[in-house]
Amino acid sequence: MDSFKVIENIRLSESTFRLRTERPNVPIKAGQCFSVGTKELGINREYSMYSAADDDFIDFLIREVEDGIVTPALGRCKPGDLVEIGGPYGEFCLPIQAIAEDSFVFIASGTGVAPFHSFIKSFPWLDYKLYHGIRHEDEKYESDDYEPSRYITAVSQPANGNGERITSVLSREQMNPESHYYLCGNRQMITDTVQILRERGVPGGRILMETFF
Ligand SMILES: Cc1cc2nc3c(=O)[nH]c(=O)nc-3n(C[C@H](O)[C@H](O)[C@H](O)COP(=O)(O)OP(=O)(O)OC[C@H]3O[C@@H](n4cnc5c(N)ncnc54)[C@H](O)[C@@H]3O)c2cc1C
Repeated sequence: MDSFKVIENIRLSESTFRLRTERPNVPIKAGQCFSVGTKELGINREYSMYSAADDDFIDFLIREVEDGIVTPALGRCKPGDLVEIGGPYGEFCLPIQAIAEDSFVFIASGTGVAPFHSFIKSFPWLDYKLYHGIRHEDEKYESDDYEPSRYITAVSQPANGNGERITSVLSREQMNPESHYYLCGNRQMITDTVQILRERGVPGGRILMETFF
């Protein structure tokens, strides 16, 4: 683990912040994650990269977990503070040969949208559809970065009370078995989504998953 300076730390919703740090001087692929923590705590957690692979900084999109150990400490970090970063790790990446020709369906809950934001910023020509399950309206983090026709949300706890889960939206959608399906977020969403995709004839080999918790 090496130490890197925090460049900025911005709240994107009541519970979620975007932490920008110096970039480790190593090759990084969109979709990979890092181990991140503070020296004082001596404990790290994994976070997916939210920024583009060739940005000269690294962004993380982090939900502050109530009573969590690491996220409140990262949420308090200020520009100039040092954070410990190890990595990158993981293979939740796009197949390079398919990026130009194939279509991609990204399905996220909450901050599970982070690797998809990184894909879309890294490969702006990507043919994608992004389904994002969120609890509240303010969790459409930086949605201007997505083409409106490609970004579909489901808000489970909206102010008006008529909530919907992203899995309900998916149950009504057409599924192309030729597309590549990437799922990221909480375990329950991933389990339910895999079942929907398999029932619609999407082959298991076309489904990739990253479970956050
Ligand atoms: C490969 C990988 C990539 C990850 N990338 C991200 C990321 O980009 N952004 C991100 O916010 N998290 C990400 N996580 C989750 C992250 O590693 C931590 O688990 C999370 O931040 C909680 O840390 P903590 O120390 O504050 O909580 P802890 O003290 O570890 O408490 C964990 C408790 O909080 C619950 N919990 C964990 N995450 C959440 C959450 N997001 N919402 C509600 N409850 C939660 C757990 O079920 C558990 O009960 C990733 C996890 C993995 C395995």
